[in-house]
Amino acid sequence: MEQTKVVMVTGASRGIGRAVALAFAEPGTTVVVNYRSGKDAAQETAGAVEERGARAVLCPFDVADPEAVKSGFKEVVDSLGRLDVLVNNAGVTRDNVFPRLKEEDWDQVLDVNLKGIFLCCQAAVRPMLKQRYGRIINITSVVGFTGNPGQCNYAAAKAGIMGLTRSLARELISRNITVNAVAPGYIETEMTHALPEKAREALLTQIPAGRTGRPEEVAAAVRFLASEEAAYITGQVLHVNGGMYMG
Ligand code: NDP
Repeated sequence: MEQTKVVMVTGASRGIGRAVALAFAEPGTTVVVNYRSGKDAAQETAGAVEERGARAVLCPFDVADPEAVKSGFKEVVDSLGRLDVLVNNAGVTRDNVFPRLKEEDWDQVLDVNLKGIFLCCQAAVRPMLKQRYGRIINITSVVGFTGNPGQCNYAAAKAGIMGLTRSLARELISRNITVNAVAPGYIETEMTHALPEKAREALLTQIPAGRTGRPEEVAAAVRFLASEEAAYITGQVLHVNGGMYMG
């Protein structure tokens, strides 16, 4: 069986996930590109990963679907023999002011952003325990710390990720598995392009750096937490937000 370093990135078809997949792309690494529906974009990410000398494997599944997650991870571990790094990046927003926030929008955001991480971590931990090695990095958000009007569902999910991250970190560090989070601020992706111009301008005034962030700047933080140099860091959150929030 082929033995390369195996990195799984959920929601890697575009935005931050794509940048994370590319940050790991180097010879000797297989990058597993997960996505839900954006096949063309995922194929484009995979092509860019391979251009950098890594192997890319497409692995479509919905992170909120327990059976799909199980079989997706099983396929990866059966065919590649291991799983070294899991980056839980897939996320969605369904914003609305609280009185109008629909129960289905609450459920969907919690299912993808929080339960999805539970499901993926559970599927990843088994092979990582066997290997006695693993790195898990969960993408949370600045709004999980500060709150944000119109995002009660999203902020609750992102804050929940921190409780999961810290608890799992305590469970797994004795087995050489670290679990950390990266909290981006306002990063230029399709998710933030959906914001109305006025909301974008208001957000910019809250960023001491005076600019939005780039997906590559988030990916660099993820890459560091997955590195050998970060072996003694666990249960932490690394904020990547241009000074928007300082913990
Ligand atoms: P995008 O909307 O640009 O990309 C989201 C990615 O997640 C896509 O690849 C999408 O794939 C995938 N995805 C969505 N739902 C699912 C699902 N159920 N199963 C599998 N994949 C799924 O988002 P960003 O790149 O901006 O965000 C990435 C992460 O960073 C998210 O967790 C987000 O909450 C977080 N974040 C983003 C910030 C920002 O400013 N952009 C700020 C703070 C946090 P497909 O197209 O196939 O559905």
